[in-house]
Amino acid sequence: MKTILFTDIDDCFIATKKKFLRNERLSIASLDILGNARSYMSDKQKALLELFIRGGTTIIPVTGRSYCTLQRIQVGSLLNSWKIVSHGALIVEPSGDKCQAWLDYLDEEFPLTMWFDKMKKINESVNELIKSQGVEAKSYIVSEGDFACYICVKCTEGVDYQSIFDSILLEAHIDVGSMKIHINGRNMALLPPYAQKRLAVEFLANRLDKYDDHLTFTMGDSLSDIPFMKLADFALIPIKSQIADSLSW
Ligand SMILES: [Mg+2]
Repeated sequence: MKTILFTDIDDCFIATKKKFLRNERLSIASLDILGNARSYMSDKQKALLELFIRGGTTIIPVTGRSYCTLQRIQVGSLLNSWKIVSHGALIVEPSGDKCQAWLDYLDEEFPLTMWFDKMKKINESVNELIKSQGVEAKSYIVSEGDFACYICVKCTEGVDYQSIFDSILLEAHIDVGSMKIHINGRNMALLPPYAQKRLAVEFLANRLDKYDDHLTFTMGDSLSDIPFMKLADFALIPIKSQIADSLSW
């Protein structure tokens, strides 16, 4: 039977240096916008990836990264199939093209123009608040080409992220409605309802299952990954993860 792994990337197969033990042997796994090493991979993460590769598994990233930042990853085997990026807002085909069937589906299911306007307004009001309060953060819309995916509020490294996010959510009078809020370190994502990893994984798994029956695995580290992880036959979690920390075992 063919196997598929739908996997989150950061804090699963790669992580920033501070997440590892000081003596751990690491190799560079991704670069920042300037081309400097940003994330690393341990020998055990490499060995896990090797297991899936040797088993002929189709490896599909399911990530909050945009397609552009996903491409800064230096591990080719994570990038040679389908990709689910920008928190699930976009599915990219193995060729690198946007999956048109997915965009057509979103167009049918969601009032996209309304959401694009709404995110523009929220982004403006968050930036006004950041300016008036003088906090060390910036807010912007993450887009894939002309397709607005979600709002990212990013704090400067080392500041008290949580209090900045709390005050933004409290004081910007954001009518978040059916938006989801996802906080990860110094980043806060305000996600419209079409940016859901679960929705994109479900869509792609159904599409791939049309041709073959698959044994599916999922891997994630954040509580927000759980909805997509539950779609698999077997789910994997790193032992050092938000999910593992939340379990009583
Ligand atoms: Mg993660």
